[in-house]
Amino acid sequence: MNVSIKTKIIIWFTLFFTALTFAIILFLQSISSSVIISEVEDDLMNLTSDVVEDLVILPDGPFYAEELEELEDFEDLEPFQYFKDNVSFAIYENNVLVYGQLPIQITSIPDIRLQSFHYIDTATERFVMYDVIIDSTHVLRAIQNITTSDNVVGGVINQLLIVTPIIILIAGLGGFFILKTSFQPIQKLYIVAESIKNSQDFSKRMPMPRAKDEIYKLSDMMNQMLHTIEETFQREKQFSSNVSHELRTPLSVLKAQIEYLETKLTTDIQKNEMEDIQKQIHYVEQLVDQILYFTRNETLNPQAFSEVDVYQTIQAVIETYEDFAQQKNIHIQLDGLESITIFADELSIIRIMNNILSNAIKYNKDDGEINIHIVQDKEYVEITCLDTGIGIQPDELLKIKQPFYRVDTSRTIDSLSLGIGLSMVDRLVTMHHGSLEISSEYGIYTKVKVLLPIKNTP
Ligand code: ADP
Repeated sequence: MNVSIKTKIIIWFTLFFTALTFAIILFLQSISSSVIISEVEDDLMNLTSDVVEDLVILPDGPFYAEELEELEDFEDLEPFQYFKDNVSFAIYENNVLVYGQLPIQITSIPDIRLQSFHYIDTATERFVMYDVIIDSTHVLRAIQNITTSDNVVGGVINQLLIVTPIIILIAGLGGFFILKTSFQPIQKLYIVAESIKNSQDFSKRMPMPRAKDEIYKLSDMMNQMLHTIEETFQREKQFSSNVSHELRTPLSVLKAQIEYLETKLTTDIQKNEMEDIQKQIHYVEQLVDQILYFTRNETLNPQAFSEVDVYQTIQAVIETYEDFAQQKNIHIQLDGLESITIFADELSIIRIMNNILSNAIKYNKDDGEINIHIVQDKEYVEITCLDTGIGIQPDELLKIKQPFYRVDTSRTIDSLSLGIGLSMVDRLVTMHHGSLEISSEYGIYTKVKVLLPIKNTP
C-alpha cells in the first residue's frame, strides 16, 4: 500500500489518542461511580446510626430520645422526622411497615436485611436502602434516591464523549500541520535530487536547513557525495578531453602523409588498400571530434536563435539525404503543418533532423518508407519520424540515448556509426527545453518524436 510516512504517523497517532482517551473515560467512569457509591453508602450509614441513636418508639409513635431525657411530659416530645438530608425513613415492626412510607416508585419492596445496602432500580430512578435495628421488635429503614448522583457521573461522561472527538480532531490537525512542516525539508531535498537527476548537473547542491538536525546531516552527506561525483566526472571528462587532443596531432600527420603517399601509388590494389586506411582514419577522426564535443560543456549561443521555418528546414535536410535513401530505394514523405515557425537555433534543428533521418535510412529495410509528420501540440511543435525499419528491442530502447551506445554492432550498416547521434539529439532537444521520445516495435517500425517549444528562450 502506497501510504506516506506522514499519513501513517497521523493514523497511528489519532488511533492511539482515541483509544487512550476512551480508556481514560472508562477508567474515570468506573472509578467515579464506585467513589460516589461508597461515599453515598458511608453517608447513609452514618446518618442512619445517628438517627437510630436518638430514636425511641413509644406507644404514640417514634420520637427523639435526646429530648426524652430532658422532658418529663411525653406530649412535648419532638416527633420523629421521616425525611432528613434527602433521606426518607420508615419504621418496621416485626417486618411490617408501621411508620413512614417508601417512595411510591418502589413497587417490589425488599425484605429486611440488616446492616446491608439494597439497590433498587425503577424505570427512571435508582434508590439505595439501609436497614438498622432500633430495638428487639423495630427496624429503621433509610431510603435515598441516588438518581442524581448517578446522573452527574453519566452527564460528565457524556460531555467527555462529545468533547473527545473535537479534541482528537484538533490534535490530529495540529499533528498533521507539525508533520507537514517537519517533512518540508525532505520534500525540498527530493525536488533538488530530482532536478539533479534530470539535468545531470552534479554541480548543484542540496539546501542546508538552518537547524543542525538529522536533515542537516543528511543534506551535508548528500552534498559530500555530489562533490565526489562531480569531481569524478570532471576528472573523467578532463582525461577524455586530453586524450582526444593528444590524438588530433598524430591523426593530422597521418592524414597528410597518406595524402602524399596516395600520389605515389600505382596499382588499383594499393589504391583500394589506401582507401580503407583513409576510411578508418576518418572514423577515428570523427570519434575524436565527438568525444571532444561531449567533454565540452556546450551551451547554445543566444545570438544564434532566430525564427526557424520547421517545414522548410526539414525539407532541406531530406534533400541532402535523397541520394542515400535512393541507394535502398526508400521513399521519404513529409507532411503536416507547412507554416509553423519556432524560435530556435537553426543549426541545432538541422543537426537533430540529420541524425534522426540518417538513422531512419540506415536502419531501414530496402524499399522501406519514412514518414515525417509535423503538428502543433499546444505551445509545442511535434515532429514525428516513423520508419519501416528493423526496429529496436524494448530493453535497448532505454539505453540508446546514452553516448556511444550502439544496439548491436553487427546490425550497424557502416563502420561510421558511433552510437553518438541520439545522445546528441537528446542533448540539443533538452537545451531547447523540448523532449525526445523513441518508441519501436522490433522488426516493424521505429518512431522518433521530438517536441520543441514554439516560443523558446535560449
Ligand atoms: P549510431 O551512430 O550508431 O546510429 P545513434 O545514437 O544514432 O548511433 O543510435 C544508437 C543506436 O540506436 C543505433 O546503434 C541503432 O542500433 C539504434 N537506432 C537508432 N535509430 C534507429 C532507427 N530508426 N531504427 C532502428 N534502430 C535505430
